[in-house]
Amino acid sequence: MNKPKYVFVTGGVTSSLGKGIIAASLAKLLQARGYNVTIQKFDPYINVDPGTMNPYEHGECYVTEDGAETDLDLGHYERFLNTPTSQANNVTTGRIYQTVIDNERQGKYLGKTVQVIPHITDEIKRRMMLLGESGGHDIVITELGGTVGDIESLPYVEAMRQLRWDLGQENTVVIHLTLIPYLRAAGELKTKPTQHSVKTLQELGVQPDVLVCRTEHKLNADIRRKVALFCNVNQNAVIESIDVDSIYEVPLVMLREKLDQVVLRKLKLSTKQEPGLEKWKDFLFRLDHPKSEVNIGLVGKYVELPDAYKSINEAFNHAGAVNECKVNVHAIQSESLNSKNIESRLDGLDGVLVAPGFGDRGIEGKIEAIRFLRERGIPFFGICLGMQCAVVEFARNVIGLTGAHSTEMDPNTPDPVISMMAEQKQVTQKGGTMRLGSYDCQLAKKSLCARIYGKTTISERHRHRYEFNNAYRDQFEEKGMQLVGMNPDLGLVEAIEVSGHPFFVAVQFHPELKSTVANPHPLFVRFVKAAMDHRNS
Ligand code: GLN
Repeated sequence: MNKPKYVFVTGGVTSSLGKGIIAASLAKLLQARGYNVTIQKFDPYINVDPGTMNPYEHGECYVTEDGAETDLDLGHYERFLNTPTSQANNVTTGRIYQTVIDNERQGKYLGKTVQVIPHITDEIKRRMMLLGESGGHDIVITELGGTVGDIESLPYVEAMRQLRWDLGQENTVVIHLTLIPYLRAAGELKTKPTQHSVKTLQELGVQPDVLVCRTEHKLNADIRRKVALFCNVNQNAVIESIDVDSIYEVPLVMLREKLDQVVLRKLKLSTKQEPGLEKWKDFLFRLDHPKSEVNIGLVGKYVELPDAYKSINEAFNHAGAVNECKVNVHAIQSESLNSKNIESRLDGLDGVLVAPGFGDRGIEGKIEAIRFLRERGIPFFGICLGMQCAVVEFARNVIGLTGAHSTEMDPNTPDPVISMMAEQKQVTQKGGTMRLGSYDCQLAKKSLCARIYGKTTISERHRHRYEFNNAYRDQFEEKGMQLVGMNPDLGLVEAIEVSGHPFFVAVQFHPELKSTVANPHPLFVRFVKAAMDHRNS
């Protein structure tokens, strides 16, 4: 077995340049050339994981098969590569320090002063190598979160510098992603911020091999020459990353710019096998050439920040491409909905997804929306909290339990149709303590869900503390809500449907996390189809 090679992706000038997409695009190209690639992300904040952060702070919290609460870039890695990630693919400063401090308490450094260098940097290096050493990968891509020059990124850049020495120059590549801004008043692209950002890296002892330059305008030969000259890189290693409409175009933009070839040559790996991207191009073609259009409402409380529902939005892109249909997702703030405005606010929508979430802000708006969709026969798809709201709505308005609620929102409700899972009641710690990761679910043979999945045993990812209260099973089934998905070991309700409705499906798990370009999620595909049918009817 060959030793894996390591690619590092750093960022300069500003945040939000799309390092995750560049890393995922490079990985896609290398994978398409037959290499076994994995990507990991190092985040410089002190939270042990992003699970305790509000989505407004950090966007969606992405959950892996093994139940890690991670950065949303891992979602891009999975959507692009169609291979699952795990806890090891996302490391934070909090986790690094936690390990080092635990080691110190156990006496592993006995007699020594524990310091950022070497103890923190050694732990970073150990984690950077972990996936490579676990075997099977030809190339490990490591994305360093944050911007070069930030105080909190320093130990990561230092660890990367040391690793380049440990591993040898031909086993590592450093890609630096920067911005070439366009000054409208001067009518010019400006390279100075990039020069400064590279100088910052050089001061820290790292010479980047490749510069990927985000830009709104094409880089001409002069600009490329100038960047190469001032930043000590080859001209063919100045890669233009021009703004495109869809993140899924970026691998093709990088292919055109030969990013994969530059990286492979630097790593002394073969470029002989051309990348097989037929399926990817077919997906892009369908995405760009829709034959119809639907309007879907996304009812949630973090709608002001599109990143808060990243995976849901991407799952709609995948499902739209399958159906050759443009899916216009309309974000609707659940707090703004009430019984008086619901009809006008949901007017013109062909289907509505009620989003996951925590806490009681906007809950009554979600319940009101679900009542409207159920009564009017408009396609409804509920995810996690969205399913819990559908259960509360049905209890109140169909079964007649007018005070029904989830104990998360109302601990004293007379009818706790959603209540805390037994094993959650002892939990006092917040981070990483929900029901997390992949669990099996058994679907009722005759259910719509079983037809959609084409099988009765499925496995999906979870992130919640509350569940359907099984004491109310009979009352729901008698009135026409089917409990169609059950966890076989724990007896928890995982999916519900309402009979006699064209599409009323809600799930306790998060199907959006498993939708990829190669494997669009069947529930999203079918929901979009239901919305198309509704529009045509
Ligand atoms: N707040 C709910 C729970 O904890 C739903 C969580 C979610 O939507 N991810 O069970």
